[in-house]
Amino acid sequence: MRAKKFLCEIIFILGILFLSANSSFAAAWVNFPVSWDIGQAFAISITSNADYSNPVVTWKGRSINLNVEQGGAGKISYGLLGSDVRNTKPGNYDILFEFVQGGKKYKASGTITLNERKYPQEKLTVSPKMVNPPKKELKRIREESKAISAALRTMTTVRRWTTPPQPPLANITLTSHYGFQRVYNGVPRSGHNGADIRAANGTHVRAPFAGTVILTGFHYYAGGSVYIDSGNGVITAFFHLNEINVKKGDKVEKGQIVAKSGSTGRVTGPHLHYSLILGGQFVDPIPLLSTSITQMLKKGTQSQVNSL
Ligand SMILES: [Zn+2]
Repeated sequence: MRAKKFLCEIIFILGILFLSANSSFAAAWVNFPVSWDIGQAFAISITSNADYSNPVVTWKGRSINLNVEQGGAGKISYGLLGSDVRNTKPGNYDILFEFVQGGKKYKASGTITLNERKYPQEKLTVSPKMVNPPKKELKRIREESKAISAALRTMTTVRRWTTPPQPPLANITLTSHYGFQRVYNGVPRSGHNGADIRAANGTHVRAPFAGTVILTGFHYYAGGSVYIDSGNGVITAFFHLNEINVKKGDKVEKGQIVAKSGSTGRVTGPHLHYSLILGGQFVDPIPLLSTSITQMLKKGTQSQVNSL
């Protein structure tokens, strides 16, 4: 096994080249960006001209199961990753790819530099109980937070997300961007972990991707909420809903109506809050609406995973 560090700040490849029994070369490549902005989604892939299994990418402390599909050099695995504006500092972060081929486990690792992006501050006025909740609500808030964390750990292998997503509303006009540093009634709170889209009460909300509903409920802060798992750690969520039309365990198709928007929870008025969660990281959901995995991968660097 040979490790080589490239000067260009990034790639650290563990690799091996191997000659298969029938004397044809099996080769594999990984693709990931050298640097990216905090809060923004990026694409990764593993591809090979030969069969492989159990592809996993580990990023920001989470191991994400990928699917193996036809495409790329023969077989390909796609992933969407990102970093949460609330808990990510600028710097270098390791990424690890693993898969099994010809009975052997292969690993390729690299580094992605995450750059600060300035997200502006936003002042909001909400009911005081939504900034400092009354004591009697603390237990409820804690329980909801546990259920949400558990849902966000959902990891399924089959890829049910396809890009670009179905926009959740027919008309996408943002009233509050992702990443805004929020100041509620003068009290600074963590950055906005989704995008707020203008929506009158009762507007139909559509699933951005096919998937399975993993959590619904009327939560203290988020109000009416729906969380959908679409595989490989890709989860979408809607908050402040007035009506929920699906339940936990339901399979939904891309574009299916799952709820009606509203003004429940911590809000200043009716709107739809849309979150995109990738491997547990809340990222800006909006740029993905107008791009595809293929276009996103073009912004990455492909490196060969060699075997000896
Ligand atoms: Zn919001």
